[in-house]
Amino acid sequence: MLTQNKQEYKEYSKNFLDYLGGIVGKDNVISDLEGVYAYSFDCAHIPFSKKYPRVVVFPENTMQVSEILKYANKKRVPVIPRGAGTNHAGGCNPVRGGIIIHFSRMNKIFEINNQNLTCKVQPGVVVADLQKAVQASGLFFPPDPSNLAVSTVGGGIALSSGGPRAFKYGTFKDYVLDLEVVMADGTVIRTGAQTAKNVTGYNLTQLIVGSEGTLGIVTEATLKLIPSAEYTNVMLAYFDSIEKAVDAVSAIINNHLVPSVIDLLDKKTLQTIEDFYPTGLQTDKEAVLLIETDGDKTSVEHQQQKIIQLCKEYGSSFIDCAKDEQHRVKIWTARRSAFGACARLAPNVITEDVVVPRSKIAELSDGIIQISRKYNLITMVMGHIGDGNIHPNFALDLRDNSQRENFEKAKAELFRLAVNLGGTLSGEHGIGCQKANYLPIALDKTTLNLMIQIKKVFDPNYILNPEKML
Ligand SMILES: Cc1cc2nc3c(=O)[nH]c(=O)nc-3n(C[C@H](O)[C@H](O)[C@H](O)COP(=O)(O)OP(=O)(O)OC[C@H]3O[C@@H](n4cnc5c(N)ncnc54)[C@H](O)[C@@H]3O)c2cc1C
Repeated sequence: MLTQNKQEYKEYSKNFLDYLGGIVGKDNVISDLEGVYAYSFDCAHIPFSKKYPRVVVFPENTMQVSEILKYANKKRVPVIPRGAGTNHAGGCNPVRGGIIIHFSRMNKIFEINNQNLTCKVQPGVVVADLQKAVQASGLFFPPDPSNLAVSTVGGGIALSSGGPRAFKYGTFKDYVLDLEVVMADGTVIRTGAQTAKNVTGYNLTQLIVGSEGTLGIVTEATLKLIPSAEYTNVMLAYFDSIEKAVDAVSAIINNHLVPSVIDLLDKKTLQTIEDFYPTGLQTDKEAVLLIETDGDKTSVEHQQQKIIQLCKEYGSSFIDCAKDEQHRVKIWTARRSAFGACARLAPNVITEDVVVPRSKIAELSDGIIQISRKYNLITMVMGHIGDGNIHPNFALDLRDNSQRENFEKAKAELFRLAVNLGGTLSGEHGIGCQKANYLPIALDKTTLNLMIQIKKVFDPNYILNPEKML
């Protein structure tokens, strides 16, 4: 339970709230303690500080965001942009209090342009809604965080979110052409162009992508679209060890096959999902690969045959290929329910997000198991193995001091392991405040200093999402 000093809570004057109400309309402001409490965490529900946001505002357009920033900058009040709050890294926690800008009312899709293969959207658009709208035009927006039913375009841009399909199609960063950004002092800039190509000046678009709301606030995005595949199918290939599954992935890639998805789930994850959402997963196997292929129907069938053959050659003991659309949806629902299923095991589930070169996945998985044993943690290993991106899910009770201390030690060892294997701290969830202290493990001093200088240029008064990332 947070215990913010009540006096401090009242410190902001009534004028402050009235002023914000004047900008966004008083119905678009939450300032009572019970209301703002809900915005003190992201989905990991770890406070990181004893602060609440003083106020949550729901702007409807760029001008309102700009006015909020002008005021906050003048008063030196922290501003934290927030989409659905589903990052796991404390990325939108108000660690110094301040104003949460919530984007649920800036959720318009302004344009889907079939000729230019682009769309123009506001940051509060939910990723699944964008995918549906784009699909209705025969096009495809590939980034698909597993929780795309709730997560937003703004959050996806700020973290360069990926998802299962990143193996073939990349992450958000590969689909952002131009951004409208409100700077810390309220000025509004555009970072790119409405064109497919652009090397005009520094690439500010890519600087903002992945910057976790610490350099500017995205209020509009022009995104690249691609034609949608005619057909997709999915299979589950089970193995008796993670090593065998990893070898099969290498064989698939070395044979020039490019599935749209190659995800890995370990035995504990399989068991936990099956317990929660029974679909007939083989819970006695050590690992499963979820492999999706797309293209025209003949090509998908051809790819699948080759993949099945390779998986068998590399020791797959059972293969379950979707027989129809219902079966395909069932497999995907099981995969996407993994986090929800794990969340039933303990009061807290912390999802980590390390990434290593693909060739080091088996060593990483083995290391995660050793670390979990050493610190007595319940751990489920899953991830986007095609990208070398593993998400160990740690189920624990953070109210228990010994579990919390053990987890902190395990986390530090995990990060060191990933970096020693040639990898890094985050593939898609970002650094937030959860990993900020660990950045020196992955980045040298000179690089870190350069990043700090960049932050100072963009946000001299340190109001934008403070204490995140750096
Ligand atoms: C069950 C589950 C599955 C997940 N699966 C995946 C996955 O497969 N792949 C993946 O990449 N991630 C995944 N995630 C992590 C996360 O959901 C995504 O990264 C998602 O894109 C975050 O979107 P959001 O709207 O919740 O952003 P939030 O959590 O609200 O915000 C994320 C960051 O973006 C900043 N931000 C938000 N809006 C703006 C804006 N307009 N301008 C500037 N900064 C902004 C915030 O301050 C914060 O730093 C998963 C999370 C859960 C809970």
